[in-house]
Amino acid sequence: MSRSADRSRALFEKAQTLMPGGVSSPVRAFRSVGGHPLYMSRGEGAYLFDEDGNRYIDFVLAWGPMILGHAHPAVLEAVTRAAKDGLAFGTTHRHEVELAELILSAYAPFDRLRFVVSGTEAVATAVRLARGATGRSLVLKFEGCYHGHVDALMVKAGSGLATQGLPESAGVPQGVSGSTLVVELGDVAALEQVFATHGKELACAILEPLPANNGLLPQTDAFLQKLRALTQANGSLLIFDEVISGFRYGYHGYGKRCGVQPDLVTLGKIIGGGLPVGAVAGSGKLLDQLAPLGKVYQAGTMAGNPVCLAAGIATLKELKKGQVYSHLETLGARVEKGLSAIPGARVRRLGGVFWPYLTHEGPLPTRTSEVSALAVTKYKASYQGWLDAGLYLPPSAWEVGFLSAQHTVEHVDALIAGVKAAMAHA
Ligand SMILES: *Cc1c(COP(=O)(O)O)cnc(C)c1O
Repeated sequence: MSRSADRSRALFEKAQTLMPGGVSSPVRAFRSVGGHPLYMSRGEGAYLFDEDGNRYIDFVLAWGPMILGHAHPAVLEAVTRAAKDGLAFGTTHRHEVELAELILSAYAPFDRLRFVVSGTEAVATAVRLARGATGRSLVLKFEGCYHGHVDALMVKAGSGLATQGLPESAGVPQGVSGSTLVVELGDVAALEQVFATHGKELACAILEPLPANNGLLPQTDAFLQKLRALTQANGSLLIFDEVISGFRYGYHGYGKRCGVQPDLVTLGKIIGGGLPVGAVAGSGKLLDQLAPLGKVYQAGTMAGNPVCLAAGIATLKELKKGQVYSHLETLGARVEKGLSAIPGARVRRLGGVFWPYLTHEGPLPTRTSEVSALAVTKYKASYQGWLDAGLYLPPSAWEVGFLSAQHTVEHVDALIAGVKAAMAHA
């Protein structure tokens, strides 16, 4: 296939002289699949168009927010109307009330939330609140869960069972990472050991209830319930980081699905409908400890921006009707069936989220350490062929793919055919 990429290549060359690695966020640099990134110019429905005029079926969807697809009419109209009324006021405004109600209606018994600008900020706020509310400093996280680039959570496991965190990034002091403990997903023995040793010093445990940033690694309800029981028994808070999973599998949080009620939930991605919005939700008893009522400080010039919230409101209203979720389940099931039938390929899938796993070596992973190097190699080897076939998948074997309300059976069948062709050559 001859797919022109001259403009993307030229832009990337220039960008690298202006921005570190030429990007605004590292995974966009295509380093784990090779080649150079594409410069997208337009999104419409299930499609992205690049600067060279190529069209792709988009299975990345801005890494999750675009659950309604690109340029959804209801979202566009809401954003346009809000923008005409003014881009920012730095005051209270009615959209805050409306979106807060729409979100909290899905998260009963929670009755308070604070708007922030990103998922990272939501997590930073939730952790500070947990520490402020408990008067404790230790935080427990799980290997393979991503919580944004918050210092305290840019941490990897050290050696040993229940380990004190080591900085995963330069610039994070030991003093910060050292107050984070890390255990492996699904490891009940390690979990029990951490709580036996440090339970009374733990401010909170945080995890993605459906880990989706290192492959899709669903945990058993029993594991999540065990974590709930241990946090409760030790007076530690449980934070579900639902920046991906919130409103993803129905008009509710993941807690409803697994039968676990967390103390705090962090949100982002979908609730902004493609514009930057994050939130922390919980009970009034906890959230009212934030300033101005409480002693935990948090603020933001752009927090609760009216145009961004208008996009979130339009998105959630559309989702609340329910049809989108059944559409995603139907299409998702087709992806699962189609990819599973390809020799050498497997897939993990929940609703409209799928993770191609291109090897039959070993079991389908439920923790990061089980992910086969072969699956990663095959993904990388397939990637340029997918672009040539007009398929835009996550530029990393560790990231999940997404379907939107505007994807169709034809789009899904093109994906299946593309993976099949790649596996035949790989
Ligand atoms: C994307 C993500 C974040 C970070 O959100 P940003 O808006 O990128 O800061 C945090 N937690 C999870 C689970 C995420 O998927």
